[in-house]
Amino acid sequence: MVEKQITTSKGTSLDEAAVQEFKVSIRGELIKPEDSGYDAARKVWNGMIDKRPALIVRCTGVADVISAVNFARANKLLVAVRGGGHNVAGNAVCDGGIVIDLSRMKGMRVDPAARTARAQAGLTWGEFDRETQAFGLALPGGIQSTTGIAGFTIGGGFGYLSRKYGLTVDNLLSVDVVTGEGRLLIASKTENSDLFWGIRGGGGNFGIVTSFEFKLHPVGPMILGGMLLHHLANAKEVLRFYRDYVAKAPEELSLFLGFVTAPKAPHLPERIQGTPVLAVIICYVGAIEEGERIIQSLRKFGPPEVDLVGPKPYVALQSMLDAANPPGWQNYWKSEYLKGFSDEAIDTLVDYAAKRPSSMSKILMGHLVGAVNRVSDDETPYSHRDAPFIININSMWSDITKDEENIKWAKDLWNAVQPFATGGVYVNFLMTEGADRVMAAYGKEKYERLVALKNKYDPTNFFSLNQNIKPGKR
Ligand SMILES: Cc1cc2nc3c(=O)[nH]c(=O)nc-3n(C[C@H](O)[C@H](O)[C@H](O)COP(=O)(O)OP(=O)(O)OC[C@H]3O[C@@H](n4cnc5c(N)ncnc54)[C@H](O)[C@@H]3O)c2cc1C
Repeated sequence: MVEKQITTSKGTSLDEAAVQEFKVSIRGELIKPEDSGYDAARKVWNGMIDKRPALIVRCTGVADVISAVNFARANKLLVAVRGGGHNVAGNAVCDGGIVIDLSRMKGMRVDPAARTARAQAGLTWGEFDRETQAFGLALPGGIQSTTGIAGFTIGGGFGYLSRKYGLTVDNLLSVDVVTGEGRLLIASKTENSDLFWGIRGGGGNFGIVTSFEFKLHPVGPMILGGMLLHHLANAKEVLRFYRDYVAKAPEELSLFLGFVTAPKAPHLPERIQGTPVLAVIICYVGAIEEGERIIQSLRKFGPPEVDLVGPKPYVALQSMLDAANPPGWQNYWKSEYLKGFSDEAIDTLVDYAAKRPSSMSKILMGHLVGAVNRVSDDETPYSHRDAPFIININSMWSDITKDEENIKWAKDLWNAVQPFATGGVYVNFLMTEGADRVMAAYGKEKYERLVALKNKYDPTNFFSLNQNIKPGKR
């Protein structure tokens, strides 16, 4: 019998016997290009990414991860690491290499008395919240329930709870990490503390995190939240009001903004369905009556076309935007931190919101002032803690013949907001934008510290498919 061979990204061949030996050694699943599940398994959230790995290994535990790393190293395979597959840059998959897919690793244990959780790297935020909310606990996590906790956390991570409780990494207690040599290390403030520093914003550069230990906070299960929808024609006045209001808002109150198109959903009045709106997204995590009092003036201003704010389960708020971000669409992002909302910045944003070539495109803005700023900047690689706002320009469309105009809109708006930007960027919102942008995520000093860590923990750049910190001279 002639043995089948798989060609790798490096032009070398993997023989079937070696692959078979690897397959029987693992507890998880090994998917090859000829397998029926291959096309589904190589898809990531961003539909623009169309890569064909030589192998996809769905690990079930640390032992599989170690075997996969050792197999990849022995066979000189390019390695991609997949958590939730949400990253817009699409580095969770690769051409001709091996995808180490952790999405089956969904174990989780909450200690309600200690208010901590140990979570495996394949969980999504929806799954994580389900477990913690059983005890009225939560962690600052993503604002979409389908995002993976792993890629999210190692870039920093922020959400509706961040004003009150900081970034996700500010609540990280320890991690289990498999290095490129296939060794398992525990990293915390007291053990491998340099690695622990690097993991809190340095992304997947140093190893594969197989599980995270987090500190949790009392939240919910019911909170006050939802959104106010204002017609785009009124957005400039609303943003000027928001600018002043948010400066005095307590940290229990988180206010995100989104220029979106109102969906054709039955809970919305017909007159607003399909029209461009400014959504003011509200999450209040204190006593509900107190929250009602605090948001009164915000609710009245305009008034909004639709008021969807009220007491609701925290998990409902956490999945409120899921339908607006379905998987498989073409996506192109540009992001920046903003110094604030000057009148000029507001005019620019509203003008570009009106020019969105696709109704699925969005301009999202998060207000991060609070606990995030109280952690000193050198505590983590995650940087720009003093920036009050972050903007994420999400171009999203389905017609692949319209790539150019949709990408151009995002780039043009990004160029137009430069005068209002701090110059920093959030690593988790980067596409493949080059070394300067990775440097902009950290600043020169921290970047050099990350290079030193890379030299120590991954000197061969085994983990290269990420916002890459290249080993080498500092
Ligand atoms: C719809 C949507 C909403 C979002 N909302 C938010 C938000 O509210 N706040 C926020 O901060 N960010 C948000 N993000 C950005 C998000 O933080 C990143 O996309 C993040 O990388 C997603 O993690 P993942 O595990 O799903 O991604 P993946 O694509 O699986 O992983 C991203 C990268 O992380 C690395 N990686 C993944 N898992 C591991 C691991 N276990 N060990 C080592 N390296 C690993 C790999 O390099 C991989 O390429 C959002 C993204 C989307 C698409």
